[in-house]
Amino acid sequence: MTDRYPFTPVPLGFSYSALEPWIDAKTVEVHYTKHYQGYIDKLNGILKKRPELQSKSLKELLCVAERLPCPLKTDILHNAGGVYNHAFYFSMLTPECKAPDGALICEIERRFGSLGALREEMVEAAGELFGSGYVWLLTDSCGRLSICCIANQDTNIPTGKQKLLAIDVWEHAYYLKYLNRRNEYAGNIFHILNWRKAEALYNEARQCRN
Ligand code: MN
Repeated sequence: MTDRYPFTPVPLGFSYSALEPWIDAKTVEVHYTKHYQGYIDKLNGILKKRPELQSKSLKELLCVAERLPCPLKTDILHNAGGVYNHAFYFSMLTPECKAPDGALICEIERRFGSLGALREEMVEAAGELFGSGYVWLLTDSCGRLSICCIANQDTNIPTGKQKLLAIDVWEHAYYLKYLNRRNEYAGNIFHILNWRKAEALYNEARQCRN
């Protein structure tokens, strides 16, 4: 993945079928090569005509877009958001899921009671999210965890928080296999989460002292 124009996708790191039976091969393929790639193509298409924005990173684009006129503002926010959120989502999936460890599991147990209880709360949040969006597990700089739903491809989270995990709950993420059973998909994601990466993000975030 490049973090400048022209943007390219994060490597998947596993085959399309590697997440079965939790997510089927066709869904992973279409999600990665059509939906995620679609946001990348649209963002690159916008930037092709805007040389002054081509040196910006994804995060910088999301920031400067706020000050641009519409429709350029919304075009960049939607597509750069789609690129950012999909890169995060795909990078946090793995066929070799190992349970969370260290400080992160301690805090999960303190805050939610157990990993299973965290799962239940994230599944409930997925079910309650109206329309499309993502369910995020966040931490603040003191290591306190929280769950947050963000609609569509928005990327803004409460100030002072950092992202640890994402569940994409757009229908394209699950509909071929799960049809309307979003909760079942959200629960099964816990079989394929990359907790090693979540732990690294957690430890990094906790070391930040503002
Ligand atoms: Mn998606």
